[in-house]
Amino acid sequence: MPIEDPNAVVLHREDLSPVLTILRVAPRGWELPDFLPGQYGTIGLPPTAPRAPGCDPDPEPLPPDKLIKRAYSVASSSVAKEYLEFYVSLVTSGTLTPRLWTLQSGSPIWLSPRVIGTFTLREVPAGMNLVLIATGTGLAPYVSMLRTELDVRTGARFAVLHGARHSWDLGYRSELTTMQRLAKNLAYLPVISAPAAEPAPWSGHSGYVQHLWERGLVAEAWGVEPRPEDTHVFLCGNPRMIETMLPILAAQGFREHSKKSPGEVHTEKYW
Ligand SMILES: Cc1cc2nc3c(=O)[nH]c(=O)nc-3n(C[C@H](O)[C@H](O)[C@H](O)COP(=O)(O)OP(=O)(O)OC[C@H]3O[C@@H](n4cnc5c(N)ncnc54)[C@H](O)[C@@H]3O)c2cc1C
Repeated sequence: MPIEDPNAVVLHREDLSPVLTILRVAPRGWELPDFLPGQYGTIGLPPTAPRAPGCDPDPEPLPPDKLIKRAYSVASSSVAKEYLEFYVSLVTSGTLTPRLWTLQSGSPIWLSPRVIGTFTLREVPAGMNLVLIATGTGLAPYVSMLRTELDVRTGARFAVLHGARHSWDLGYRSELTTMQRLAKNLAYLPVISAPAAEPAPWSGHSGYVQHLWERGLVAEAWGVEPRPEDTHVFLCGNPRMIETMLPILAAQGFREHSKKSPGEVHTEKYW
């Protein structure tokens, strides 16, 4: 079977650091499907696409007739249909991301015609408070949720807990800080794990996202304790963070959500 042709184009690329980028990908000659905030698209490049300098060689030989495809949470609002925005981190030993790092505005790329996934607010009743916990690029689905739903779910409280190593890895910080100032129902709580490496003294939170939760900072920001009766918790990104948070939440009565057994904790592991 011939390799699929690129059906989309990189509209815009914004590097936040050498290993973090925001890509906007627009379809060429077709329309983006409807999707829900929190869902993911798939992007792909051929194995002949070059790897960025400084990255490791391919972990193994790649079949020449197959696109390299990976899933990425959509960060753009589901009401904006011109492009899909993705927040991507470089895995220097990975297969696709070193190739994504050579793309520029105008570069052809393959984009899945479907945006899918169950990590959404669909099964969260209106009025429920939302705690959105992420490491790294695991923030992406929450950016889409907030861009789409913050001014719709006016009766709900939101908290975004975002963990990264350095302050310059806290993508979307200025947008979230502005949203927090404009929307009285949003608490934005960024945290970094390597404050000693900051060029200027860091006055924000240090440690990991789970520490913010354990220190009761959501309750402090909201003025009320988040409880399973009124709050859903979303966990996204590094599987280690998710595995650490699940027992902490279970001990407080939060149950993992599944179609068969509804609960208040929703998870999306990136690897
Ligand atoms: C539903 C879903 C949504 C996703 N959304 C995003 C997103 O919004 N942004 C994003 O950057 N990634 C996202 N990912 C991860 C993404 O699909 C790729 O796995 C990642 O970009 C690495 O691809 P690669 O081909 O370069 O490396 P691969 O060759 O696929 O991976 C090599 C190994 O690197 C490790 N790895 C994978 N991702 C990371 C990471 N981010 N940091 C450190 N180690 C990693 C894993 O151990 C993996 O086995 C998502 C994954 C899933 C399943």
